[in-house]
Amino acid sequence: MKVAKFGGSSVAGAGQFRKVKAIVESDPERRIVVISAAGKRDPDDHKLTDLLYLCHAHLNYGVSCSDIFHTIQQRLTGIRDELGLKYDVEAELSALEKSLSKDSQVDFLVSRGEYFTSRLMAEFLGYTFVDAADCVFFNFDGSIDFEHTYEAIAAASEQYGRIVIPGFYGKVSTGRVKVMTRGGSDITGSLAAVAVNAEVYENWTDVSGILMADPRIVANPEPIKKITYAELRELAFMGATVLHEESVQPVREKGIPLNIRNTNRPQDPGTMIVGSIDRENSDERFITGIAGRRNFTIITVQKHDMNTSLMLRQALEVFDRYHAPVEHIALGLDSFALVTSSTGLGESVYQLMGELQKTCRPDKLEQQDGISLVAAVGRKMPFRPGTSGKLFRALGEAGVNIRTIAQGADELSIIVGVSNSDYETAIRVLYDGFAG
Ligand code: ASP
Repeated sequence: MKVAKFGGSSVAGAGQFRKVKAIVESDPERRIVVISAAGKRDPDDHKLTDLLYLCHAHLNYGVSCSDIFHTIQQRLTGIRDELGLKYDVEAELSALEKSLSKDSQVDFLVSRGEYFTSRLMAEFLGYTFVDAADCVFFNFDGSIDFEHTYEAIAAASEQYGRIVIPGFYGKVSTGRVKVMTRGGSDITGSLAAVAVNAEVYENWTDVSGILMADPRIVANPEPIKKITYAELRELAFMGATVLHEESVQPVREKGIPLNIRNTNRPQDPGTMIVGSIDRENSDERFITGIAGRRNFTIITVQKHDMNTSLMLRQALEVFDRYHAPVEHIALGLDSFALVTSSTGLGESVYQLMGELQKTCRPDKLEQQDGISLVAAVGRKMPFRPGTSGKLFRALGEAGVNIRTIAQGADELSIIVGVSNSDYETAIRVLYDGFAG
């Protein structure tokens, strides 16, 4: 069986609902459908979830939220009426509106975006609606109660055959509804896939897969056809946002492939994320994807004849005290450099430098801001001698000065630090030379 999760843009209006139905009906194995709250129909539109958060803010400040409520009602009744459905949105919404007060639980209110959208979708598909409050459970510390959740979803699937589950929320054992962090419907889909040991977890969105590079930098980058979970983690860590971070681990552990698909172009295969890919048989590119992040600071400590390990440990302790995450360490004989996020460090950089000066007593202490990290990720890189040489030459020929270099021990990625002004050039050079 397949689990298909549809994101907000896939259920933004009646037209999108029709596309979802065609997709679901085209494969009888798509027996569990997980639905997000209706999202934006166009860039100026609003997501139901945002409108509901806004309602809560109004309630908090004692301002009427009836206009926003009205907008929400129109969105939902619009979909219902255009699709000829019967669900009594008005009755449920007005009961909800009457129950609202300053003390209303924000989580319950916000979860209604998924709830109502899923009710409509269940009727439209002719699937049974199974409330997430009855099959997704949280522990008191806010973590997911996996065992209990898997049992409940598997039981619902067994009992009803074809079901729609709203994403993004569940229940704490006190009975209170709790939402996940934003984008959490991805997690619900993953939980459902594990619960029924699905053949694949399909995550339907509005792009034909994970792109090989940021489309704001590279014109029309190609989607990645196949990627391993390990590569995806590297890319996501370096800034490529695709899925909710917590949605990956459950399916990864269970060995269930995850397929990112485009609701607007169901003919496209999208990106398949799998545990491992047979190297011999794949004729894919050398680099799977490129990602990057701006605004890092390099702090260099230099001292003649230094006891490197002692001094490094002291420096790391100072970084730790200032909660400055160390992204990379470059070691030299009489120097080392630590790369950290400039935004994470903020104003405390001055104090941190002062403390490094006191603790390490270096000959030279330097701070360079405005650094970007660019990562080339690819499972094929470890097995090709000369990989890094080729990448560095291409960057050098384009006039990009490399400030730091890091290669993970698994050689799955090569990360270079360049000046912020070279960030886009570096990404384009790597894409044009090795990925596109
Ligand atoms: N509707 C929620 C959000 O906008 C959750 C989701 O779409 O996954 O974040």
